Amino acid sequence: MYTFVKRLLTVRFTVSLKINAMDQKTCLECGTAIKGRRDKKFCDDLCRNAHYNKQHCDAVLLIRNIHNILRKNRRILEALLPQHQQKSKILLEKLIEAGFTLKYHTHVELNRLGSPRYFCYEYGYQKVGEEVVIFRKEEKLAA
Ligand SMILES: [Zn+2]
Repeated sequence: MYTFVKRLLTVRFTVSLKINAMDQKTCLECGTAIKGRRDKKFCDDLCRNAHYNKQHCDAVLLIRNIHNILRKNRRILEALLPQHQQKSKILLEKLIEAGFTLKYHTHVELNRLGSPRYFCYEYGYQKVGEEVVIFRKEEKLAA
């Protein structure tokens, strides 16, 4: 039994060496050729950690940037809708000129006719032709 396992391991090791020689893998972080197990992605722990930290930082930056865009969008909608007013209209062109980014919103609801109503937190807007109708809707947080 022991001999069989040993032979099996030897065969597997030989096969993996051949595979490595054919398409040698390189470290995802530094590009150095990787020795050892075939599924290794990094040459050492330093490279693995550096790679993870970089990925993590990119994610944090992305989240921060989108959050800032959403906050700016909300500020613009808030400024365009006076407290005492239910609704307000503005040309789409003017909204974009004010720095509004259409790409980002917090959620979408469909009205009775199936048209989308986009939200930036409690402020909603709907495109009507060339104009945008802005409104406020108190949101209850879903548990
Ligand atoms: Zn490396």
